[in-house]
Amino acid sequence: MCQNHIIPCECGREKANFMNLYDLLPPPILTHLYCPSCSKGVTFDPKTMVRDNGWILAFDMQAARVFLMSEGIPEEVITPDFIFDKGYFSWNGFTPTDIEDKLKERKEIMKLAKVDRRKFIEELKAWGIGRVERLKSEGWRKVANL
Ligand SMILES: [Zn+2]
Repeated sequence: MCQNHIIPCECGREKANFMNLYDLLPPPILTHLYCPSCSKGVTFDPKTMVRDNGWILAFDMQAARVFLMSEGIPEEVITPDFIFDKGYFSWNGFTPTDIEDKLKERKEIMKLAKVDRRKFIEELKAWGIGRVERLKSEGWRKVANL
């Protein structure tokens, strides 16, 4: 339904995981991806760009409009914010690296499962809740919009 797409940023230092709801918008819709380092020199244009915690995504809005309008979405609501916040082209998870981060963090807790099952369940719960709180305090917009 929606796949994971791994896309490098302009400077090549970072990579981000993306999902696209119903596979409606193909990856080339993202014309530029800037990580917190390479976004510094970029002039932000809200007509084509959306930002999240130092990252900037630029979309081919003309193509995005054609794709989304063919699904019955009215032209006036189609903005970069709309595309990102509704998940038509957005981080896979809460952050650009959420998928890998989550796997790594969970692996640590899973080690406990074999040793102490009760403690494992407690840790797992605390991790799940604490994680969302931490991401929220870091300022990621997908968590803020929960
Ligand atoms: Zn970069």
